[in-house]
Amino acid sequence: MHFPLDFYQAVLENLNHGLAFFRFIIDREAKAKDAELFLFNPAFIKLTGLNKMDIIDRGLQDLFPGIFDWRGLLDRIRPEGNKERRECYAPASSKWLLLVLFSPQPGILGVALHDISEIKTAREDNEKSTKRLSFEPRLLEEGWNRKKLLLGLSQAISDDLSQEMFSHAFCLNPSLMSITTFDESIYLDINESFLNTLGFNREEVIGRSCSELGVLSVSQRLHIQKMLLEQKRIRNIESKFRSKEGQEVPGLLSADLIQVRDRKLLLMVFHDITERIRMEEELEEKNQQLRELNRILKVQAVTDSLTGLYNHRQVMEKLQLEIARANRYQQDLTIMMLDIDHFKSINDEFGHQVGDVVLVEVSQIIRRNLRSIDIAGRYGGEEFLIVLPQTNLNNGMQVAERIRQQVEAEGFEESEEGITVSIGISQHQGEEMADYIERADQLLYRAKREGRNRIER
Ligand code: GH3
Ligand code: MG
Ligand code: MG
Repeated sequence: MHFPLDFYQAVLENLNHGLAFFRFIIDREAKAKDAELFLFNPAFIKLTGLNKMDIIDRGLQDLFPGIFDWRGLLDRIRPEGNKERRECYAPASSKWLLLVLFSPQPGILGVALHDISEIKTAREDNEKSTKRLSFEPRLLEEGWNRKKLLLGLSQAISDDLSQEMFSHAFCLNPSLMSITTFDESIYLDINESFLNTLGFNREEVIGRSCSELGVLSVSQRLHIQKMLLEQKRIRNIESKFRSKEGQEVPGLLSADLIQVRDRKLLLMVFHDITERIRMEEELEEKNQQLRELNRILKVQAVTDSLTGLYNHRQVMEKLQLEIARANRYQQDLTIMMLDIDHFKSINDEFGHQVGDVVLVEVSQIIRRNLRSIDIAGRYGGEEFLIVLPQTNLNNGMQVAERIRQQVEAEGFEESEEGITVSIGISQHQGEEMADYIERADQLLYRAKREGRNRIER
């Protein structure tokens, strides 16, 4: 199928991989001496980082020194399909490139460039030993032909061989490409990527419209047409194609309106970004997991794992804050030091695990009797520190008494004699934290001395 030159030009400009064409220079013995660059696209400049003015007329060996084995190249790369692949580093653009050599037609050599920097970096992390081949722009030889610099794309493609070359560009393109009539969007041609990605075969597509196939909805199509009539070209707008199976394929869409005499054609280039989106989603999911992990770690850092109450460090920090607050706002503050009676004998009689269960049950009784602003922590083995902000001694006594009674009343299966606790309770009187705790501790020991299962104030 032969398309107008405009179309090929749009294809070339749209390519996100570089494309350049060289003409073989043949010596007297009909062997190829070199190949001279005569045509390239914008992506070629971008990927190599070379200066546009410097490269016209340059030879392949000069531009990519030492990268291809020159001997027999002419015989090796044939239009029937032999291709050679090489990787090289382009210092001017700091990119790793994959070079694919092919021949669209006898005597012509095409070089397609793909940016593989990302893959390369990932790979390099594994194997550090990559030899860096480079190509550097050399000074232009004298006598170069300025006219050729001005050789524009459209002039070049007026050449007979251009159709051949550009249809290569169309077929090789990793983006989904299609050419349709403008008004109805009837498919005239599509490339391999289009068919592979959307799951159609060629016969199903040619001659049918994109909305009929469901690739684009009617409203999507009208939107694209409207934009094109206003600005003639669309570049990289986010869009979605629909596959034969009805699956949405996200991508970036570029489109060109091409006028051929009295006929309008539409070239669409669709860059599939499913993979990118998948990676973004994966990353987001990982971040989510990380945030959750962080949250758990934060909770773990302040929690006693057995009882779920605050750990020693955290309850001390909280008490320090409450003391500061009580001082600043002249508020009441009361603390309790609570210790399980004869806990050692429970361990001795029933084992450490049963002791643990008792610890958990006592913790639950404590928690049940506190308000949300109260603070309870495991101070030591079977000793608890309870902080009651904005609470005076009398009100604190009521809480302490409730806890003492409930522990005593609870039918602990583990121990026939039952479990009891002793409590030292004290209201803050402006002292430092250490002194304050010491006072509550002394009261606790008095409770123990006085016979246990009691509260001292
Ligand atoms: P008192 O009435 O005087 O407080 O007697 P007691 O036996 O409770 O006092 P003591 O401090 O002598 O014993 C505390 C025991 O608590 C000693 C230790 O083995 C036990 N203990 C400390 N932490 C844990 C724990 O996490 N789990 C269990 N099961 N026992 C613990
Ligand atoms: Mg004890
Ligand atoms: Mg103790």
